[in-house]
Amino acid sequence: MGKEVVNMQIIADVGGIPGKDCRGFCKYCYFRKVTGEDPLGCRSCTPGTVGCENCSTGVRETRNEFMHPFMVMGSVQNSLMMSEIRDNNLKANISGGGDVSCYPHLLELASGLNQYNLPIHLGYTSGKGFDSAKTAEELISLGVDEVTFTVFSTDQKLRDSWVKDPTKGESLNALKLFCENTEVHAASVIVPGVNDGDVLYETCSNLEDWGAKAFILMRFANFRNQGLILGNEPILKDVVPHTLVEFESLVRKINKEFNLRVTGTPLCDPENDTPFAISKEKNSEYLEILTDVQSEATVLSSNIAAPYIKKIVGMIGADELINVVPVDQDIGCLITQEDVEGVDLAELKETVIIPGRALIHDKVAQNILSKDGVDRIVARGPDKLSVDGEMSGTLSREDVLKKELIAFEDLIEAINFFGVRKK
Ligand code: SF4
Repeated sequence: MGKEVVNMQIIADVGGIPGKDCRGFCKYCYFRKVTGEDPLGCRSCTPGTVGCENCSTGVRETRNEFMHPFMVMGSVQNSLMMSEIRDNNLKANISGGGDVSCYPHLLELASGLNQYNLPIHLGYTSGKGFDSAKTAEELISLGVDEVTFTVFSTDQKLRDSWVKDPTKGESLNALKLFCENTEVHAASVIVPGVNDGDVLYETCSNLEDWGAKAFILMRFANFRNQGLILGNEPILKDVVPHTLVEFESLVRKINKEFNLRVTGTPLCDPENDTPFAISKEKNSEYLEILTDVQSEATVLSSNIAAPYIKKIVGMIGADELINVVPVDQDIGCLITQEDVEGVDLAELKETVIIPGRALIHDKVAQNILSKDGVDRIVARGPDKLSVDGEMSGTLSREDVLKKELIAFEDLIEAINFFGVRKK
């Protein structure tokens, strides 16, 4: 397997609240209409209490407003001092809960980072804060060499009405400049009937002409079981999102027709075969390095991941010991108490492994999953078993395989440790 390229990014978190620090909400924003303040519960909660910062204000992104650049620089300096990463290929990633193009001190911050000779990645922008494309020129001269730009469409009228872009085309001029001078990962949430079809082809063709490197298609989610867990479904009345099958075929089609590194989220990366590249027959030889499964357990997973995990379990000959049960939620990290309550307990073994980042308190999960009188052990597996489209597009095929194999090994170790010993 190839050597992993070290490209460590130090996060320069400018804070910000979605919608509020973005010049108003984009129509499709997942943080629109968020209701409630109750914590969901998560692995960071203390054993006796449901709720902590992570699963209350953290997941709702209501934690902090834009921060003073002095504080942002302070935390970057701390990261630089505290680690041995100085010698590596370092980059600062300016990102936050809002849109960084709306951060009023963006140039000042970029200039501060530039004094440390740090190249800069603008980690998340829709561009709607760029009243003049000149700002892009200045940012490039201050060291911005990578931009993740959520474009939605290159049709300005669509951006006006859907992204609420007030810049009269300047944001797109900025994007063009970034494409010509930096590595641009463009992204679009794909809303059926709005920015797909011919308009999407037009967008891809512009991105290709301008020189964007990558394009990430994001399936629009409109329902709770697609990840809208904050009491805000539906985001858009009467819009039916692409099915996973439709979405995957769209990603593959765009990938074939354009010279862009195309990936989709929550699936698929046609080049790297994610999610779950290790489930492909051609990669099956790598599974031989995994530890033997010796204990029995159920793996609780998402709608999307479960069939892949089941396939891998079969490929390593462990289906007698491990069964995989999906809950009605597309994304594993967004599994909540409500999803766990929907599980048929008759399908479960005595040990249940839930996704590491599932948004449920450990004790609550254990109580729900033992309601039939079987006192089950509930443990968390790895944070992620595969990589999402955003990440996959930046990794080599070998790195993807390596990450997945390490994660699967961790899963097997958890099963062997917490499960009922059979071998
Ligand atoms: S820019 Fe992003 S975070 Fe802000 S409203 Fe639009 S989608 Fe939401």
